[in-house]
Amino acid sequence: MPIGNGQLFGDHSWISSADLRDRIRQRWGLTESQICGNGPADVFQIPGAKGTLRFISQMSECFCDRCNRLRLGADGWLRPCLLNETGQIDLKTSLRAGIRTVQLQEQVRQLLNFKCEINFKQRDSGTVGSYTRTMSQIGG
Ligand code: SF4
Repeated sequence: MPIGNGQLFGDHSWISSADLRDRIRQRWGLTESQICGNGPADVFQIPGAKGTLRFISQMSECFCDRCNRLRLGADGWLRPCLLNETGQIDLKTSLRAGIRTVQLQEQVRQLLNFKCEINFKQRDSGTVGSYTRTMSQIGG
């Protein structure tokens, strides 16, 4: 995810997952797997193979609508989305202030309840508006 680096969004910098899947399908065959992951990857299998192939296609296929990830940064903020700081929680300050665990659990539970509304929901570079941090600055 070239967050904060719009140049990497140029068409010559990457290849779409659909294209990759087509190439693999033509050579070895490829089917959607019955195995469901618990992350953003789409799971496929090559017939007869023991393992699976998983595609996380941030560049070519937006999967924000089913994103279930949170990010705890080194700065102590728990963020519901890499491209959206709405609802983020300052866990470091709360923990250092001795806030009770049950209170923090409740805050995180509320954040999880709103996560699908907070999710970014668009394929974008993260370079527009005031959002200019790179992936490494978010902890990725
Ligand atoms: S932009 Fe946000 S909602 Fe979309 S995949 Fe990344 S973290 Fe998840």
